Amino acid sequence: MERTKIILKSGKDEAVLRQHPWVFSGAIKKIYGDPAEGDVVDVYNNKDQYLGCGHWQEGSIAVRIFSFEPIEPNYEFWKMRLTNAFQLRTSLGLTQNKKTNVYRLVFAEGDYLPGLVIDIYKGAAVIQAHSIGMYLQRHDFSKALQEIYGDQLHTVYSKSKETLPRNSAFEVENEFLFGNQSSEVVIENGNQFEVNWVNGQKTGFFIDQRFNRELVGEYSKDRKVLNTFCYTGGFSVYALQQGASEVHSVDSSAKAIDLTNANVALNGYNDQQHQAFAEDTMTYLQHCETPYDLIILDPPAYAKHIDVRHKAVQGYKRLNATAFQKIAPGGILFTFSCSQVVDRRLFEHTVASAAIQSGRKIRILHHLSQPADHPVSIYHPEGEYLKGLVVYVE
Ligand code: SAH
Repeated sequence: MERTKIILKSGKDEAVLRQHPWVFSGAIKKIYGDPAEGDVVDVYNNKDQYLGCGHWQEGSIAVRIFSFEPIEPNYEFWKMRLTNAFQLRTSLGLTQNKKTNVYRLVFAEGDYLPGLVIDIYKGAAVIQAHSIGMYLQRHDFSKALQEIYGDQLHTVYSKSKETLPRNSAFEVENEFLFGNQSSEVVIENGNQFEVNWVNGQKTGFFIDQRFNRELVGEYSKDRKVLNTFCYTGGFSVYALQQGASEVHSVDSSAKAIDLTNANVALNGYNDQQHQAFAEDTMTYLQHCETPYDLIILDPPAYAKHIDVRHKAVQGYKRLNATAFQKIAPGGILFTFSCSQVVDRRLFEHTVASAAIQSGRKIRILHHLSQPADHPVSIYHPEGEYLKGLVVYVE
């Protein structure tokens, strides 16, 4: 069957020529064919120059390009892409690591596979598709993963029900593609965490905070630490491991608090060193009495869409300003945003205006981001979604 041909409007080819992998629906001049969601389409400029091929989807991003050369996306092609991703993780020291066996194998555009995320939890791979085109390839990905990892792999789980576009006509269920294990105790920098990809949020664990958790550990000795939006208690465990005098964890989800308590116990710490509270972070911050020496703010993405960016920025400002009031003199704040539409400049401005509001003397110690298993194509800066600051509060 002939592939659909998409022609871009004059001047709308610049980003794609620079290897930016998104074609917005507004950039399209003409469509030769009647593509269904997930179909592979070819993209040309209006001088009939070939630009790339990608998956078609209804919505503002109409095509996600996975190759800037004309190719046939068969099994061998997908396996080559996964093998390249595996080789990068091997060169990062992640695929045979005695202290860390949880990492991101595929980070969408950063691995030239827009719409696809694959996380590795020891012997399990969790596939999360954000586009129908990638979802339709899940059996090929599962087969390729089994060939790449051999007997190191016992499970492949497909978890795309929550991430595929809501308006899609596809009936999607989460399912095991290979094996049937739903959880695993993994290690990250020597700390243990129970990860359940069937019941957990996203693919089960926030792998993107690995380096930042280590840094929290380095600042934790003899400090009283508050870890808000704690989810599985990642930051709490690292703080305890590095000798925090006391750690408090807060999350509005009771399930997250159970996970945090379980992970704290798994690593051998007790109730005297750690307490967890199922509460809204703002309410907790407003009511806590004694100040903390180190506070972590790692909220969920406040802005999932550009239309709500302004409201999200106000939310970040309020949260940070409240935290600044609760930090002891000489204290440290780790503050994050994982909203893709709030870029680093805007986020840092927002923290600065919260600082001004608090009236305290505040200095930046570190600018934080995501680790190397979340690579960012230099032509797709939107891939840098995690932004963080470490600040010193006098
Ligand atoms: N810091 C975590 C990841 C945070 S994910 C880690 O390192 O793994 C965001 C978490 O915020 C979720 O667990 C969610 O339940 C929680 N959350 C969302 N809204 C909240 C609120 N208003 N107050 C407290 N927790 C909240």
